[in-house]
Amino acid sequence: MILHDDRYNLGLAEFGILIPVADTRASRTFEALKDQPQLRGQVPRWHHRPGGEILNEEDLLRVHTPEYVARLFSEEVEQEMIRTYELIDDEGRYNRYDPSSASLSLKKLFDRILVRAAGTVQCCRIALETGFCFYFGGGMHHAQKDHGRGFCPVNDIVVALRKLQAEGRIRSAWVVDTDAHKGDGTAALTAGDETIRTLSIHMARGWPLDESPTDSGGRLRPSFIPSDIDIPVASGEEAVYVERLKEGLLHLGRFPTPDLVVVVYGADPYEKDALASTRELKLTLGQLMARDRAVYDFLDRAGIAMAYLMAGGYGPHAWEVYTQFLLEVLPERLEKG
Ligand SMILES: [Zn+2]
Repeated sequence: MILHDDRYNLGLAEFGILIPVADTRASRTFEALKDQPQLRGQVPRWHHRPGGEILNEEDLLRVHTPEYVARLFSEEVEQEMIRTYELIDDEGRYNRYDPSSASLSLKKLFDRILVRAAGTVQCCRIALETGFCFYFGGGMHHAQKDHGRGFCPVNDIVVALRKLQAEGRIRSAWVVDTDAHKGDGTAALTAGDETIRTLSIHMARGWPLDESPTDSGGRLRPSFIPSDIDIPVASGEEAVYVERLKEGLLHLGRFPTPDLVVVVYGADPYEKDALASTRELKLTLGQLMARDRAVYDFLDRAGIAMAYLMAGGYGPHAWEVYTQFLLEVLPERLEKG
């Protein structure tokens, strides 16, 4: 039910990357769960470890272009990591990046990304077996068909769903994305596919929606390709966030019930989030709990297997969001047996 292991850590600081994604958000959440009296004595019942799942080029090719996958598995992977993590700005200066402090090469980072993305597949498998799994990793929803973006080199969500479809394990799925940033890669990669329905509730303005919707040739930029249901929330509309989410979920419920839902959780709408690009949305812990209850109760009532991914959540307070949700839901799941 909880998929967590230090082997899933990215250790960005080891690569000289200064983005505030603290691996401690996973470890602190896990410690808090282990300290809860009801959960403490039953850890083997709810804690899952990596089960040998691996991803290869073929798995990525179901989602990404052959040219992009070839670059990821060549020496050019370092350039792709620099681009995806925005480590060099338009003027050629280092951005949130200090290579002199790096102890590992960026090629090694991609190896860790693949391990982390494989965890998403395993999370989905556990969800299909038990009804619920929350993976302390995953949710790289910005990766597009032919390039990585926004700290997301590959789209582990769609990679996992396509793999399970290819295996015949699932036919259809929903993706419910409550991260502060629009689930743009997921929407673009599944557009027009009735087997995967997407809902995204996100900041109405700011990254990745901070460009004009069309490029110089008049083509819609990939980030503006709509999800099946998009719920943009403007700064100052926090009080109606949950109400609008519930309306969106009712809308989603009109599609046929799928075999699996992936929830791209996201703690970054939190008012204490540390990433500058999440400032447009400032939900309190109470509002986040109402958000999480709305999604979980809706999916639980519908009886759909749920695979949760950590997604965005930055700075020293992110763990509080994951912890309050799981302290409430995990005991309920265990009582269900
Ligand atoms: Zn985000």
